[in-house]
Amino acid sequence: MKSREERNAYMREWRVQNREKFHTSQKRCYQRIRLEALQHYSAETPFCACCGETELVFLTIDHINNDGADHRRAIGMRQGRYEPKESANIGGNGFAYWLKKNDWPTGFQILCFNCNWAKSHGGCPHNTLMQRLIQQLPKEQSHVPQVPLQGPLH
Ligand SMILES: [Zn+2]
Ligand SMILES: [Zn+2]
Repeated sequence: MKSREERNAYMREWRVQNREKFHTSQKRCYQRIRLEALQHYSAETPFCACCGETELVFLTIDHINNDGADHRRAIGMRQGRYEPKESANIGGNGFAYWLKKNDWPTGFQILCFNCNWAKSHGGCPHNTLMQRLIQQLPKEQSHVPQVPLQGPLH
């Protein structure tokens, strides 16, 4: 028969290992929901609504009206971390979970981090560059379609 000491050590080890297992599956689950969110607000192959970037790690969910801070505060996100008001312990950045739980509310689009950052700091150069080019065009050619920063939403 094992001593109490040995049993305790075993239980400690078991708890540590299972906590790690739990965290990995949680992480994988989050990646899946994040992809679901990106696809919902973009397309089968998600892309930046401003520059067309398709690399998933560069993409983020953007609040079209730049009311991100208010919104995050309202749903309990602080300093980029999701702190759910309910007891749901999902940890980390649970924004995609929140969107899914709320039936994919409108008002969001997919942008890459560059365009997202630039947009909240006076507008993305991609967009303003396009505007400038269009303004410089002779009148006869001004039918060139303007590329909207805000992509279509489903
Ligand atoms: Zn972009
Ligand atoms: Zn851009």
